[in-house]
Amino acid sequence: MSSMSRRHLMFAATGIAAIAAAPRLVFAQAAAPAPAAAAPTGPFTLPPLAYPTNAFEPHIDAKTMEIHHDRHHAAYVTNMNNVAKTNPQLGTAKIEDVLGNLNALDDSIKFTVRNNLGGHANHTMFWEIMGPNGGKPEGEVLAAIDRDLGGLEKFQNDFNAAGGRQFGSGWVFVTVSKDGKLAIETRPNQDNPMMDGKRALMGNDVWEHAYYLNYQNRRADYLKAWWNTVNWAKIAERYAAAKAGTLGV
Ligand code: MN
Repeated sequence: MSSMSRRHLMFAATGIAAIAAAPRLVFAQAAAPAPAAAAPTGPFTLPPLAYPTNAFEPHIDAKTMEIHHDRHHAAYVTNMNNVAKTNPQLGTAKIEDVLGNLNALDDSIKFTVRNNLGGHANHTMFWEIMGPNGGKPEGEVLAAIDRDLGGLEKFQNDFNAAGGRQFGSGWVFVTVSKDGKLAIETRPNQDNPMMDGKRALMGNDVWEHAYYLNYQNRRADYLKAWWNTVNWAKIAERYAAAKAGTLGV
């Protein structure tokens, strides 16, 4: 018998031993199910959606919502929990304080925190300001849109145009100052106005993962349709919080 064949037999014998052991493993798992392997653990958590993933059909399809929340946003959370294992201060600080002082971080984690804590903050805001039967802007928010952004129609057109012009991946936001002034601003990647000491009243995600399954390269159509998903009551709450100086993520 060649040495090659002997090695092959040895591997085969090892395989038989593994098969023989397998039924006991299966039995042990059945008696005490293991927790879900991919569940991220740590100080950062994925906020559950307050509506079903099909809530925005046909404007945003359920599959896009599921992948966007359960995979993309979850990945930012998991990555932050991994960084927090060796930098536990990240898990106890306020997100707005960390993002507002990125230069205070060690160079070895600055890039990771910028992208992943930025992504976590952006998406947490994004899910919050969306909702079925979102109504229309009214009261103080509508007055601010009229005063600072030229009225609702001009605001929506300018916001969509800014989102369309954002080259590559990024976001289009409405920032709000402490005295309630509004402005349309874009950021690349997962950057957030908090990185400049500002606050996002609302924002739309123009990464391709936000729309590509349904709209492919038609970002302009997604930007228009997205207005059907906006929860204006929540935006009014955020506007009041901004003026009170309590608006965070
Ligand atoms: Mn996204």
